Amino acid sequence: MVTITTEEHEIIEKAIGECKECFVGMIDSEGLPYVIPMNFGYKEDTVYLHSGSEGSSIGFLENNPNVCITFCTDTELTHQNKEVACSYRVRGTSVICRGKVVFVEDFDEKVKALNVIMSQYTTDAFKYSDPAVVNVKVWKVEIERVSARIFGVPYKESHQYNK
Ligand SMILES: Cc1cc2nc3c(=O)[nH]c(=O)nc-3n(C[C@H](O)[C@H](O)[C@H](O)COP(=O)(O)OP(=O)(O)OC[C@H]3O[C@@H](n4cnc5c(N)ncnc54)[C@H](O)[C@@H]3O)c2cc1C
Repeated sequence: MVTITTEEHEIIEKAIGECKECFVGMIDSEGLPYVIPMNFGYKEDTVYLHSGSEGSSIGFLENNPNVCITFCTDTELTHQNKEVACSYRVRGTSVICRGKVVFVEDFDEKVKALNVIMSQYTTDAFKYSDPAVVNVKVWKVEIERVSARIFGVPYKESHQYNK
């Protein structure tokens, strides 16, 4: 479980809450990095992901469950002086989380995870058919380490957190 201050937690949760996708990095069968974009849900220092039951990533994670998940909010181009190239900045907040993927097998826990994922995108409530729940692969990542940075703002307003 991550131990961070309330202010750090708020910045991290606000940034993750604004994202529509994340980038999940893992180690492939040759020991090389492999990163895929994924939709996600987040609740209480845990990231939930879902996928089909087969695919390269599933095989990689069965061999090595360690993942590095990066989130980046929508970015905005800003500048202090339109004529000066080095005054241009891309404003955005990014969060990097590390942890291990555990595949959720329990039916009810899968439904809860799917609800967390859906709540990232909509306030609507959903029902899922039994085969849909049985066939989906649900990935649960309890965050073990997290860092956040805010980019493209004046130096005094920039932040960096590492835990
Ligand atoms: C915005 C966004 C959100 C997504 N959300 C999800 C999600 O929530 N769940 C989910 O399962 N998938 C999601 N995807 C698709 C995901 O990125 C992967 O393509 C998918 O999970 C299959 O991955 P795999 O490792 O099983 O690849 P495989 O299907 O085994 O693919 C074989 C090969 O195809 C290439 N490949 C695979 N995926 C990609 C890719 N995204 N871009 C370029 N090349 C690729 C790689 O070289 C890979 O080795 C999302 C994609 C996008 C763009």
